Amino acid sequence: MKQKAVILFSGGLDSTLSAKLTEDIFELYGVVFSTPFSRVNKRVFELAEKIKLPLKHITIGEEYFEIMLNPKFGRGKGMNPCLDCHIMMLKKAKEYADEIGAKFLITGEVLSQRMMSQKSSDIVKAEKETGFSGKIIRPLSGALLPPTDAEKEGIIKRERLLGISGKSRKTQFKLAAKYAITGFGTPAGGCVLADKIFSKRIKDAIDHGELDLLRSRHLMTGRHFRLEKGSKLVIARTAGEDKFLKANADNFIRISSSGAPGPGALLSDMRDIDLALSIMARYSKKTHEFIILSARHGALSASESVDERIVKASPASEETVKKYLI
Ligand code: SF4
Repeated sequence: MKQKAVILFSGGLDSTLSAKLTEDIFELYGVVFSTPFSRVNKRVFELAEKIKLPLKHITIGEEYFEIMLNPKFGRGKGMNPCLDCHIMMLKKAKEYADEIGAKFLITGEVLSQRMMSQKSSDIVKAEKETGFSGKIIRPLSGALLPPTDAEKEGIIKRERLLGISGKSRKTQFKLAAKYAITGFGTPAGGCVLADKIFSKRIKDAIDHGELDLLRSRHLMTGRHFRLEKGSKLVIARTAGEDKFLKANADNFIRISSSGAPGPGALLSDMRDIDLALSIMARYSKKTHEFIILSARHGALSASESVDERIVKASPASEETVKKYLI
């Protein structure tokens, strides 16, 4: 009878290949994670279905902010706490493994592929922190790593493990062709934490004590401004973003265009209302008249709105816009 193993499956090529390389040895159960800064694309579930991998989606919520604020192992080029993040995911995968009686974890890690979490010293740190030493199998680089308990127990032979290391993905692409794997995603998937602009927004949110689930959703939408007296302004760039901000407006002041189509926005408080309106006017071609609607009671239906008023604004200069743009 096959042993159960939990595989961290991102829907990328490396984790898909790791599943293909071990599916005849283990009864595989996949886990995929979303965090406040990464979403799981439906393509990942389609790919899992294609390779017949049962897939559990685990959502990491507020606890993720702890590693954003104090990453034990530091950050990458942006605000990405990759090693801490990876360890958190391994711990969650281990909880699931314990739940279903799986003894091993499998990952698509490739030695030295990513500077932030795949150096051999990082692999050792991750195992130690997870308390799962010898139980994490890395089929793509396993031949270059110390034997796991699965090898010691004769469950998997060393010759079944590959010796891939580094950033080149030539071997993986050849294997993808061999196994006819298509539909996989790019490395790091939908994580925005390494992005330069996004990292600036995150840093600003951390500096202002604004890291929470609602505001982390805003961070991935629209244009962001930190205004003169400290208010935060988010202006939608598209009708879709406007709709999204409207649906996530709890405790924010909502500003929308009046009389003609134009951008909608959320403002944290009234300290910088004049500046906020002038910046909005800068982005509004058809009208410089706006409706200010307090959303402090949550939903934005007319019955719940308070303090509704219409105001006119003069467009801010390009210089002003640049000064406050995050
Ligand atoms: S790229 Fe993002 S999701 Fe991936 S390990 Fe780094 S922080 Fe975590």
